[in-house]
Amino acid sequence: MPKRTVVGAGLSGMVAAIDLARQGDEVLVLEKEKAIGGSPAYHPSLHATPIDLQYTSDLIGIDVSSCFQLLSETQLWIRDKRLFPNLNHYGVERGDRETAIDTFLYKICLDHGVAFEFGHPVNRLKDIPPGSIVATGTMCTVEDFSVHKLIDGYGYAFVMDTKLGPANWQFADTYSPDYFYAVAMNGILYGLVFGRRTRIEEKALKTIDRQFRERAGIEIEGWKPFYCETMIGTRLFFGPGNRYIMTGSASGSYDPYCGYGIVGALTSGKVSALALRDRDGAQVLFDRMNRNHMYLYRVFEAITRLPPMVKLKMLTSMPAYYKYSKVLFGRMGRGIPGYPRDWMEEFTRD
Ligand SMILES: Cc1cc2nc3c(=O)[nH]c(=O)nc-3n(C[C@H](O)[C@H](O)[C@H](O)COP(=O)(O)OP(=O)(O)OC[C@H]3O[C@@H](n4cnc5c(N)ncnc54)[C@H](O)[C@@H]3O)c2cc1C
Repeated sequence: MPKRTVVGAGLSGMVAAIDLARQGDEVLVLEKEKAIGGSPAYHPSLHATPIDLQYTSDLIGIDVSSCFQLLSETQLWIRDKRLFPNLNHYGVERGDRETAIDTFLYKICLDHGVAFEFGHPVNRLKDIPPGSIVATGTMCTVEDFSVHKLIDGYGYAFVMDTKLGPANWQFADTYSPDYFYAVAMNGILYGLVFGRRTRIEEKALKTIDRQFRERAGIEIEGWKPFYCETMIGTRLFFGPGNRYIMTGSASGSYDPYCGYGIVGALTSGKVSALALRDRDGAQVLFDRMNRNHMYLYRVFEAITRLPPMVKLKMLTSMPAYYKYSKVLFGRMGRGIPGYPRDWMEEFTRD
């Protein structure tokens, strides 16, 4: 029975572990935290993403649809203007609570006999056997895994109890080159404002507090500082002789439209398991999934360099060019596993 090591008990790592265990391999997952649910610095948290639940579940061989809820109440604001696109985002919970997708996948791992060692950080390649899958997420935590260019992201997040949901708010404003978002479901409300390469000033939180009070009728409590890294570039095989396999955010697998991470983590988890048996097939699938990566990165870079007011003016006038961007965005997502084929077409519908 082949022995396999997976580093990181997050989404991509557990999808890979389940797949390998189903093929009859003996799988050990090494996780740096003391328990399932990722870093307590980030979670519990609620994430929003477009996703084709049927396709994703079929592709990874795990029906994840019970973990996701359509965020039917949606508000998208560009400064003080509310736009009315059909966001069609789903919410999903991360962390160690019963309602989190981490807990859901962990139980399936245990049912398949996957072994876990918690409190076991892997700091160097030499500590794991060749053929290991590296699924360490957005932070580059292992010194010699740093095969990507990294961009720092800074911000603030909060999590509080609520009876609301499922609901989603997204605000673009001068306080961030990226955005603020909040999601309510499973009895909690989670919000995050962040900026790549830019520190969000503390005074911005007062503006968001006011906006959220006016738009959602809720007083935000408990902001905490937040730090993350984004990988630039994608990679499936790496290390001496390309003997290791990367997956999830560590591999640079992100959303083909917006740079989100959930669907890329789930689908690339499956691809990393495939890579141990069919290198070429896995590489073809991986390249297809990530074909927009560098293009999106350059577009984001260009937009980030625009003066904030010019960028926001462009975003506010989006409805005027919805129908023109439809074709371009439609092509961006088409055929990429896990994403709704028509998501951008829906989004850009008048
Ligand atoms: C606060 C926050 C908000 C986000 N919001 C969204 C959103 O709204 N929509 C969206 O689609 N995406 C969002 N993302 C991105 C998305 O969550 C990630 O892209 C996705 O979870 C990545 O999955 P993964 O499997 O690569 O890593 P993760 O699920 O993060 O798992 C990585 C695991 O590896 C462990 N680990 C790390 N280093 C080591 C080590 N050296 N040794 C052993 N174990 C290690 C970690 O503790 C963790 O358990 C967000 C990310 C964060 C942090």
